Amino acid sequence: MATTTENKLSSRVNNMAESATLLMSKLARELRGEGHDVISLSLGEPDFDTPDHIKAFAKKALDEGYTKYTPVPGLPELSEAIVTKFKRDNNLDYSMDEIVVSNGAKQSIFNICMALLDPGDEVAVLTPFWVSYSAIIKLAGGIPVYVSAGIEDDFKVDAAQLKAAINEKTKFVIFSSPCNPTGSVYTKEELSEISKVILEFPQLLVVSDEIYEFINFTEAHASIGALPGMKERTITVNGFAKGFAMTGWRLGYMGAPVWVAKACAKIQGQVTSGANAFSQKAGADALLADLAPTHQMKEAFAKRRELLIGLLNEIPGFKVNFPKGAFYIFPDISHFIGKDLNNGVHFKNDVEFALHILRQAHVAVVAGSAFGAPGCIRISYAASEETLTEAVRRIKAYLASLV
Ligand code: PMP
Ligand code: GLU
Repeated sequence: MATTTENKLSSRVNNMAESATLLMSKLARELRGEGHDVISLSLGEPDFDTPDHIKAFAKKALDEGYTKYTPVPGLPELSEAIVTKFKRDNNLDYSMDEIVVSNGAKQSIFNICMALLDPGDEVAVLTPFWVSYSAIIKLAGGIPVYVSAGIEDDFKVDAAQLKAAINEKTKFVIFSSPCNPTGSVYTKEELSEISKVILEFPQLLVVSDEIYEFINFTEAHASIGALPGMKERTITVNGFAKGFAMTGWRLGYMGAPVWVAKACAKIQGQVTSGANAFSQKAGADALLADLAPTHQMKEAFAKRRELLIGLLNEIPGFKVNFPKGAFYIFPDISHFIGKDLNNGVHFKNDVEFALHILRQAHVAVVAGSAFGAPGCIRISYAASEETLTEAVRRIKAYLASLV
């Protein structure tokens, strides 16, 4: 029963789901605190430390006095570096006033939702989706409309499906590519088809979350905003957390039409102000420096992907997708759901499956329903090859004991 104190909370927060990714890593930490040897593959966080040259940039920035408030939309040095990066890597022509730097890409997405959504407005969410999209959309009063694809479609939605989900209330479409949680990558051709649908609706924008841009194992990264007619319709979100292993630095950014950028800066100006000054300076230097360390991390992720796919394919009942980017695998485990198994075990759904795997096999993964895909689980392979091998050994042994 809710306590009196809880009853005083707003319906806004009472109705909000806790982040499932953060919740699973909290449960893993708690179990570890009880003395269990728990492997956490639940959090999307590179296990690599931030490259040394970027740490050196931050130390230098501190010594040079980057310790004050910055302009709300970003330190000019960083906005300029982002303009250069967008041109260099994405063929996107943004100007400085179209850039807003935030405390992580999560805040960028929050700013966008707060800036664009009135109560009742709809957002087409390509599903499986990153867990916080739906929570933030709802927080802003919007209604997420899930447009889903399963493992048989490589978890990618096509243009016709998207079109069927759009109406005059749809403010924007949101997706990530490379995708969290599936690792799927939309090709330029697929994005082109999606862009044609967006251009059919004069009010419609697209939020393209490209935070895994640098962790792409096959196709060149394609940005929907660079396609014909799309620049004014696209908000391109990116950040430093994944490609530069800078999760704790809290640095993300967007390129957006000026009217959106201005509104996002206005919100941020009342809520958090500009992002951390020396993180921003180091981020600017990191974007313009040699990207070799970023590419090395990608190579390590690519090796782990091979290893993990091979190991997971050996678990009877697991249907494994073949991700092309990010550092997640999203197996379909529906084979195990709704069946009476040994020892009185009966998984009602993927959430129970993930909780049992945590409690019995001591491996933390995230249930697919948090990403709009019940029947799947997300495994993050931002962990060493030894850790991944041991994690799969445990899951396999536990599941074998149930059949
Ligand atoms: N978008 C996606 C798809 C993510 O996986 C993450 C990871 N947390 C974010 C946005 C937020 O990133 P940041 O840490 O920069 O807030
Ligand atoms: N994006 C990461 C994940 O999906 C980090 C956790 C979070 O910010 O929710 O696990």
